Amino acid sequence: MSQKLHVGLLVSPGLGHIIPALAVGNRLVTHHKVSVTVFVITFGSSPAETEILKSANKSKVIDIVEIPAVDISHLIDSNTKLITQICILVRETLPVVKSVIFTKKHILDALVVDVFCPEALPIAKDFGLPNYVFIPTNAWFTALTVYCPVLDKEIEGQYVDQDEPLKIPGCKPVRPEDVVDPMVDRNDQDYQEYLKVHGIGFCLSDGILMNTWEDAETGSLKALRENEILKAIVNSPVYPIGPLTRHNQEIIDGSADDRNFVLKWLDQQTSDSVLYVSFGSGGTLSSKQLSELAFGLELSHQKFIWVVRPPSEDRANESFCTTGKGGDGTPEYLPEGFLTRTKGYGLVIQMWTDQGGILRHPSVGGFLSHCGWNSIIESITNGVPMIAWPLYCEQQLNATMLTEELGVAIRTKVLPTKKVVEREEVEKLVRTVMMQCEEGNELRENVKKLKMSAEIALSVGGSSHNSMCEFLKDIEKRIQGYKKSMSE
Ligand code: UDP
Repeated sequence: MSQKLHVGLLVSPGLGHIIPALAVGNRLVTHHKVSVTVFVITFGSSPAETEILKSANKSKVIDIVEIPAVDISHLIDSNTKLITQICILVRETLPVVKSVIFTKKHILDALVVDVFCPEALPIAKDFGLPNYVFIPTNAWFTALTVYCPVLDKEIEGQYVDQDEPLKIPGCKPVRPEDVVDPMVDRNDQDYQEYLKVHGIGFCLSDGILMNTWEDAETGSLKALRENEILKAIVNSPVYPIGPLTRHNQEIIDGSADDRNFVLKWLDQQTSDSVLYVSFGSGGTLSSKQLSELAFGLELSHQKFIWVVRPPSEDRANESFCTTGKGGDGTPEYLPEGFLTRTKGYGLVIQMWTDQGGILRHPSVGGFLSHCGWNSIIESITNGVPMIAWPLYCEQQLNATMLTEELGVAIRTKVLPTKKVVEREEVEKLVRTVMMQCEEGNELRENVKKLKMSAEIALSVGGSSHNSMCEFLKDIEKRIQGYKKSMSE
């Protein structure tokens, strides 16, 4: 095609979705000469989200269209879980989505919908647009998810109570305790939404894009493409186009001075000497866990930067705002005098920081992470080994992949969502990742190799670059087919 392609990306709320979608958009524009419009369904409630969209808008690389989410407060209550909330929100906002996309229909050549938006695929079909699903995470999660409707028929009782791992054709089996959050309680609405929107929804498009790459997930990708059972379920090509991360140097929440302060502090540290501790865009710990983590960091005597949030006793994916502080400025939910005792080797940042900028800094040598997929790939692409501390969604699965398949992380002995990780264990994990020892050295070696493989995959002629080219060729082929059918 001589004319420049124009791809629309429809994105569900939440930074874990917006950030990778912007990364895909940027990649399409800068490496494949495609125009991109990103349609973002927003709550407009998170300052970090607002800032990220503002800065993406300012860069003018991609066109951003914000679609304010409709009010769903009458459809949910305090017990409604996260997956259900997002599914309802997207569903209820669909009429607005349709009218907004209609106004841009004439410029679009294809529509890619994200992980929570498969119910928007009929909109693309109605408008005669080739349509794809983008899953901002990995192939193992995708395989488990598309196979879940089969497991639903075959397995009785709760998945978490099974004695044997769940068998996914061609893939590494999934241990019952590793199932994704919505599979934990089959009687909850979250599970029904997951089956419908993800399990069935992923397979209704012209292709599935994933933020992963061949060398990281050879087995699961092969199974999705070649295993007779999985292939028949997926029923469309899969495109591993990652690992795509945000290359945004700007601080997101806070002034330029804050940013300089963190990076300037890192400038003064030696190479690979600082542990970065963060639980994603919304992860929270209980008060007891926060305190054990704080004491563990203190005991380890390793330098650290910790993005802390006030505790939450009920949900691991809830973040609250607080302003309470102790005498030395220590937030009231951290142990008394923590800031004074860790002065010189620890930096505590409340709520949010520019994670990309920190992980890119050569002084950072380890990442204690909640194992959100974006955080994982940001760590790997910077060659930083991890301590896996999974909290919610598919993070348990991710932690198993990091520790047992890729060898780039060590993990807590107890599941952090079930039991408190004690300070002595924190101390040991931190020392293992940060210090020169056999296990730590092996992690560093493995993550450097994986970093290289990611760079190769994304370079011209690499597997992920080729995959993106295949996806674009597929769009062109479908447009030609559509034009031909119109002229007949
Ligand atoms: N992030 C950040 N600063 C923070 C916390 C998170 O920039 O203080 C970014 C992080 O770099 C990543 C995203 O937010 O790109 C979080 O996505 P992830 O998939 O890791 O976890 P989620 O928040 O979706 O659970």
